[in-house]
Amino acid sequence: MVQAKKALAKKTRATSTKTQTENYKNYIGGKWVPSRGGDRIENRNPADTRDIIGRFPLSTEADVDAAVAAAAEAFDGWRLTPAPRRAEILFRAGEILMRDKEKYTRDMTREMGKVLKEAGGDVQEAIDCTYYAAGEGRRLHGFTTPAEMPDKFAMCVRQPVGLCGLITPWNFPMAIPSWKLMPALVCGNTVVIKPAEDTPISTYNLIKACEEAGVPPGVVNLVTGYGETVGARISSHPSLRLISFTGSTETGRTVAYACAERNAICSLEMGGKNAIIVMDDADVDNAVEGAVWGAFGTSGQRCTASSRLIVHKKVYKKFSAKLVERAQQLRVGNGADPKVDVGPVINADAVEKIMRYIDIGENEDGATRACGGNQLKKGDYAHGYFIEPTVFTDVTPDMRIAQEEIFGPVTSVIPTKSLDEAIEIANGVRYGLSAAIYTQDVNRAFHAMNETYTGIFYINSATIGAEVHLPFGGTKGTGNGHREAGTQVLDIFSEWKSIYVDYSGKLQRAQIDNKKAIG
Ligand code: ADP
Repeated sequence: MVQAKKALAKKTRATSTKTQTENYKNYIGGKWVPSRGGDRIENRNPADTRDIIGRFPLSTEADVDAAVAAAAEAFDGWRLTPAPRRAEILFRAGEILMRDKEKYTRDMTREMGKVLKEAGGDVQEAIDCTYYAAGEGRRLHGFTTPAEMPDKFAMCVRQPVGLCGLITPWNFPMAIPSWKLMPALVCGNTVVIKPAEDTPISTYNLIKACEEAGVPPGVVNLVTGYGETVGARISSHPSLRLISFTGSTETGRTVAYACAERNAICSLEMGGKNAIIVMDDADVDNAVEGAVWGAFGTSGQRCTASSRLIVHKKVYKKFSAKLVERAQQLRVGNGADPKVDVGPVINADAVEKIMRYIDIGENEDGATRACGGNQLKKGDYAHGYFIEPTVFTDVTPDMRIAQEEIFGPVTSVIPTKSLDEAIEIANGVRYGLSAAIYTQDVNRAFHAMNETYTGIFYINSATIGAEVHLPFGGTKGTGNGHREAGTQVLDIFSEWKSIYVDYSGKLQRAQIDNKKAIG
């Protein structure tokens, strides 16, 4: 991805004065400013790369430093603003997002490719998340607990962490930034955010809404550009106390190393290789619909995508045939066309990676390519990144296509003989984000729920479809133990302070002066 964009950026510098394309800016200290280096990166439509959406600053480390300085200056004012007042601003931001939802949706489809309905869902998730975070302004609950000595009071309060760096991916270009930004703000932190280089306009729209809502200057700062420069500087900046990252497992590890150097808090949300188990008593038609939605929604570019379908051998043939039939019916095209089911993938590097995996599946793994598998290049597809929805059958759990995250419209059907074997297969990957089971048997459903080692589990539904008031995150290679969304996200963006109040008027020493209750 980065290489492709670098090539585009060079082209931008050569042609930037000749076209009418809008030049966007960074947002630092409440002002819209160009990058100090002056370069820009083009944001192009993955359905038609002739369509340039805008040019965004190709920022430098100096831009990050300026944004961090602005966040530092704004921190005291923001953290001392009562949380209910902070929340009022977020509620206003939510209303602005609601007001402009349609425009944001169109912008998102144009820059990211997902079909309008899904882009609308992405914006809606940002709205939901904003309102939910704003509601926390009047809660942000701490707790009290009995102290172990008389005339002593014990309690815990949440305090902001400080300056936070947020690094976000392109697949949910407004929802994921909002998942991080809104809880960070309601907790009283100030923020520097870097969107993925492929999808800056959705984050730009989010920040514009914050500005209009009255978020004070410096509280939110937007710096666009490449991961290796802007992202790396954010990850390693000595003044950023917390880095929240969503993206690939490899990049997440790099971010974690940079944080470890200075003992910064690091919250990671990374890959997935999510399985739907389909048992012999399942409603097969419903399971097929779930599999189609889970595997091919957002062109399979979700960390929760249903990329493995573990199917009991008694219904394996029926399920596979129906799945292939449905996959072949899906209309691939420009997501802005309401008749289209599956949009393009994000960029040329993604095409190359997905096509490589299709080749591995067929020629190295020896799976059966039951449908799809081709890049679409002719006619309306000529200027975009389109790949047919692809189903592999006769897949075994150890094959690379069943182990590695492809992040495209490709899914693998794996036959199984029993529930316990299915669970073992589901757990047998390096990731642990989401899993699902289709069955009519409550005992099997709960057994699978208990035995799958993932952060999310669905019964009679695909592996996707998170709601903002439940914690989101995964085990193993997916994360590092944190959960976003829900009230659990507050544990990322606030730090606990334990407070002891001794009103006895004398020295009382914990663990030493306790009067024994018995004996
Ligand atoms: P993908 O390969 O799906 O684009 P990445 O993990 O590379 O996923 O990207 C997720 C986010 O991380 C993007 O905003 C990207 O710019 C950023 N990023 C990429 N490389 C680095 C890095 N070395 N340090 C920090 N952030 C990075």
